[in-house]
Amino acid sequence: MRIALLSDVHANLVALEAVLADMPAVEGLWILGDTVGYGPDPSDVLALLRQRGALLVAGNHDHAVGTGHGLEAFNPVAAKAARMHRAWLTGEERDLLASLPTLRCPDGVTLVHGSLRDPLWEYVWDVRTAHASLALAETELSCNGHTHVPAVFTLDGGRTTSTLGRGLVRLHRRVLVNPGSVGQPRDRDPRAAWAVLDTEARTVEFMRTAYDVAETQRRLRTRGLPGFLADRLASGT
Ligand code: ZN
Repeated sequence: MRIALLSDVHANLVALEAVLADMPAVEGLWILGDTVGYGPDPSDVLALLRQRGALLVAGNHDHAVGTGHGLEAFNPVAAKAARMHRAWLTGEERDLLASLPTLRCPDGVTLVHGSLRDPLWEYVWDVRTAHASLALAETELSCNGHTHVPAVFTLDGGRTTSTLGRGLVRLHRRVLVNPGSVGQPRDRDPRAAWAVLDTEARTVEFMRTAYDVAETQRRLRTRGLPGFLADRLASGT
């Protein structure tokens, strides 16, 4: 199966629309959490993903916006945006976010936002943390997000190594694939990051899609979100 992997859309509708327009034919759309938080269009992003039949797991921002819990763990900018999203969304939309599972296993692939050890909150930045997740995985393929940086971690022969999330990567043994962030990339490339996973060929192709960053910045300012959230989109940090 060919699956589009998207994560950390963060209510950036302009980026999501550009990615969907750029996407080849796929048999599934898997969203690895943080669909809301930070960005200007939480409701429209949720509606578009539901309309496209996307499969979602919960991220820490989805959980905070949906339930109102965990806001104290956020920095002030993230907490302010989460509170604003909570106020903008309908009760039905908040309930949907609150009811998202933190882990799913469609077609023998494990999906989480953070890590297998702590699906909502743990960042997998290095091989040591990745190793702990890969050791827990009940499937050969796992996918996560949360860091906003594309990467592949591989556990083979008791040792975990990392590969940059660029171009086409062949997947061997036990792997953790992070497609990066659609709505707020943090690897100094402002283009939306996402990936196409082929579960039969066992490959992942990392994709980048340019979008109208200035339009998202305009919407962020119009809606009164903190200016820092607009500034960082231009530099991809
Ligand atoms: Zn995020």
